[in-house]
Amino acid sequence: MSAGPRIVALFGDPVEHSRSPAMHNAAFRALGLDWVYVAHRVPPAELGAAIAAARLFGYAGLNVTVPHKEAVVPHLDDLGDAARSIGAVNTVVRRGGRLVGENTDADGFLRALRRLRFRFRERTALVLGAGGSARAVVWALGRSGLARLVVLNRTVSRAEELRSLLPAELRGSLEAGPLEAALDRSVVSRADLIVNCTSLGLDGRSMPPLALDATRPTCLVYDLVYGRRSTPLVARARRLGRRAEDGRRMLLEQAGLAFRLWTGRRPPLAAMARALEES
Ligand code: NDP
Repeated sequence: MSAGPRIVALFGDPVEHSRSPAMHNAAFRALGLDWVYVAHRVPPAELGAAIAAARLFGYAGLNVTVPHKEAVVPHLDDLGDAARSIGAVNTVVRRGGRLVGENTDADGFLRALRRLRFRFRERTALVLGAGGSARAVVWALGRSGLARLVVLNRTVSRAEELRSLLPAELRGSLEAGPLEAALDRSVVSRADLIVNCTSLGLDGRSMPPLALDATRPTCLVYDLVYGRRSTPLVARARRLGRRAEDGRRMLLEQAGLAFRLWTGRRPPLAAMARALEES
């Protein structure tokens, strides 16, 4: 066990560009907690050893990011409901001597959308991508009151697999297809919400294929990708007069939920948001 401040660590590879240390250390400072958040680059082959070290040193909690969100599962003692259903963990909480995996991406996503006053009931969503973040988003959307869901992905079979994340009554309403179907105006014009869960846009230049000009004027575009400037998808959607946001609010909300799980305290979101913008 370590003496000194309580430690929360991020395990990922890479971690250099992560904004989580800035957000969480600002939160600890704002509440006067003697806690510290550190980022460790953990190559895939070292994940088991890193988890063992976290146990040995008595780390109070962990964040887990790419590429470990799924691989970490067998190293943990238990999983929360969302993490178990989604099959991915982004937050680890120490409960007694046990490490419990949680997923705060799903709720973080819903909170970000609720803040934009998006009403889910009876709406249709178009999700682009079927990787780890899409799993969390689809699981969350399945519990939001949404009526219909279209999931398009480069690898169609992965989009199909997301059906199992939905409650039984919604499974029949999921349509899965190839990513290029987002160029089909009749597909896009039905959507009340479009969520980009692909990594397209991360480079600051690319964006998913999408007939944005066919969207309804009321359609909300939510891009999980975020960067220093607005993402190409958000910029283009706004130029067309659509409401569009990047993934920063979701990042903030998932961090707030993790903070609450570790510390039991209400997260100081304003301080965390400031640190996120400055980082
Ligand atoms: P994954 O690697 O699990 O999934 C990547 C997805 O992007 C897959 O659907 C993949 O398709 C698709 N994709 C990748 N490259 C291409 C390409 N060249 N053409 C078409 N499709 C492509 O990543 P995550 O789901 O974890 O993350 C996706 C994005 O979401 C990242 O940019 C990440 O930063 C962001 N994110 C944001 C969060 C937030 O809080 N705002 C939280 C989590 C993620 P295929 O299945 O065919 O490979």
